[in-house]
Amino acid sequence: MKFTEYHFSDEIKNNLNRMGFKKPTDIQYKSIYPILRGEDLLAIAQTGTGKTAAFGIPIVNRLHERHKKGETKFLRTIIMVPTRELAIQLTKVFNDLSAKTKVKTVCIFGGVDQDPQIKRLLKGADILIATPGRTFDLVHQGYVKLKKIDTLVLDEADHMLDLGFIDDIRDLIKLLPEHRQTLFFSATINKEIKKLAYSLVKKNAIRIQISPKDPVSKNVEHSMCHVKMEDKRFFLERVIKENPEKKVLVFVRTRVRAERVSKAMDRLNIESITIHGEKDQKDRFDVLNAFRKGFFKVLIATDVTARGIDIPDVEFVVNYDLPDVAENYVHRVGRTGRGRRKGKAISFVSKNEKPMLKEIEDFLGKEITTIKMEKWEYQETIDFSEDTHLSIKELMGQIQEIDKKIKKKKGKRK
Ligand code: ADP
Ligand code: MG
Repeated sequence: MKFTEYHFSDEIKNNLNRMGFKKPTDIQYKSIYPILRGEDLLAIAQTGTGKTAAFGIPIVNRLHERHKKGETKFLRTIIMVPTRELAIQLTKVFNDLSAKTKVKTVCIFGGVDQDPQIKRLLKGADILIATPGRTFDLVHQGYVKLKKIDTLVLDEADHMLDLGFIDDIRDLIKLLPEHRQTLFFSATINKEIKKLAYSLVKKNAIRIQISPKDPVSKNVEHSMCHVKMEDKRFFLERVIKENPEKKVLVFVRTRVRAERVSKAMDRLNIESITIHGEKDQKDRFDVLNAFRKGFFKVLIATDVTARGIDIPDVEFVVNYDLPDVAENYVHRVGRTGRGRRKGKAISFVSKNEKPMLKEIEDFLGKEITTIKMEKWEYQETIDFSEDTHLSIKELMGQIQEIDKKIKKKKGKRK
């Protein structure tokens, strides 16, 4: 079925056409009509399968039709997301979907001055896309009015219902009209969160799960190899140098490691940029934009960038370190293989990450393909390296080797 055959307003159909969306993806096909009918939804579909438009299209179409009937602008829909980057990304999609209509989306998030956001809110909006913290600030100051909200969406829903956010979400729900539609979208969910999710929606909520057996997008070919912690940089160097044209997104465990890996790449004349929670907001926008536009081919990131970010031409994801929580594996590798594109992901697993690997494989319900390396193949990667800068540990090792040789020689002479 094509979008032209749907019962949408012409303006929305034109916008879809302008965006290059001809046919709905699976999740869009299954979600759009239930949402238009007003059902509650718990929707799980792999990364990169178009979940944003799956709720965006019916929401925008509905609001547009109300405007056509002469209804005035009032905040009707609130969409909660975990990061500022996602708030901005989703707002762009909503603006594209509602071009040349009266439907207005406003985006708010913390870490920046609130005044410009307040100004935009005062001009009137139908849709609010927001992170929880700033939402509460502006609700309490009276700029965000919730009394006419009839649709609540949680994108990355399992994360929004997890420890870091659930209290905020519960508080928000208390402030919303009881009579409303609630929509949850994510690529992953676990049993406990599913239970919690059901307690927050209507009894007859619809559950949609696309390919429940494999949470990893079918467009991502993902594998792992065993690499010693101290050798990881050589393997990263090789991946990058063997794929010189490709955009590579590298995930590390901490912000300190992000900077360290970036410096190691510097020494090899591999240009990279880093993104993590410690950077200020402007830096984070600039970095993501520079990577999006291709000014840098290598982005080294922590899990702040694991979820939701849609940069369609990322072709390679490297898990330099495994994530701390199993589901983030799915989200990280899902930064490639977006839409119809194919992507590759590889994880470097050191000895003390093996328990985490097990957790991830349990979450996936299957083993990750292992790239087996003979000793000489492994050594080849280290020899391939142009890194001449030795760490203190390595230098000490070499000195000890030389010492041993000298002692041996001396021993022979005696
Ligand atoms: P998800 O939230 O499922 O990870 P996104 O909503 O970010 O995925 O969409 C992934 C990509 O697919 C985006 O680049 C988007 O523009 C594209 N896309 C979404 N729907 C369609 C469609 N119907 N036809 C073509 N491309 C689409
Ligand atoms: Mg998404």
